[in-house]
Amino acid sequence: MKKLISLILVTISLLIIQPASAAKIPTNAKKLIRHYKESIIGFEDNHIVFTDGTRMKWDDGIKNKSYQQLLDEPDLEDMFHDKYRKRKAQIPLSVNYDPGRIRVEPFFLKLYGESADKVKENLKEIIWCPKLVGQKIMVSTLYGADKKFEKISAELDKYPEFAPYLSKIAGTFNWRKIAGTNRLSMHSFGMTMDINTKFTHYWQWDCKCKNEDVVLGYNNSIPLKIVRVFEKHGFVWGGKWYHYDTMHFEYRPELM
Ligand SMILES: [Zn+2]
Repeated sequence: MKKLISLILVTISLLIIQPASAAKIPTNAKKLIRHYKESIIGFEDNHIVFTDGTRMKWDDGIKNKSYQQLLDEPDLEDMFHDKYRKRKAQIPLSVNYDPGRIRVEPFFLKLYGESADKVKENLKEIIWCPKLVGQKIMVSTLYGADKKFEKISAELDKYPEFAPYLSKIAGTFNWRKIAGTNRLSMHSFGMTMDINTKFTHYWQWDCKCKNEDVVLGYNNSIPLKIVRVFEKHGFVWGGKWYHYDTMHFEYRPELM
């Protein structure tokens, strides 16, 4: 009887304590933990905790950042500032609505490697769309990114009408800065792909400028069916950004 009572007490206390402590973890932080579990073990005291014991601040407490501040000095919480809308195209896009473009660079350096050589340690060659294209590309094996690329490739390979868009893949791994900025391109990490530039619209090419406070129109010629295949496997599309980049697909499962 004593045992039964203590068991009931333990169960009740667990029921009371657990939801309370779990509730302290912000929903979006949970998404980071879930999708990057090989590198993140949890959340504690406003910080993401990595498997090596290091921590990174979740919320810096600064409210009402300007668009430029969000790009240049984001915290992890800010990465979720604009909600990525899967499937829906939402055109025209509201000014500076760039879901996925606000990124904490040190976070991705931590996840994928802090130098070109470190990133290269986890790259693998795959054959992109073997039937339609057959191009060799290098992609990251971290967080299942290579598996996702392979699934996307296999699926898109069934649509001969898409071959022109999928051939001459303009780039996957390429350690470099984003043109006109001091920020590292996501191509540096091997989880991002630019498809054929021939059909691409990129805001910097259209405005012939690099200043991000420019007033932009919108252009796209990439079939949305291609976009949906990437989205299904956890990739955001640059064609859903006010600062559009319609060749650009980036593995960001936490945003989907
Ligand atoms: Zn790109």
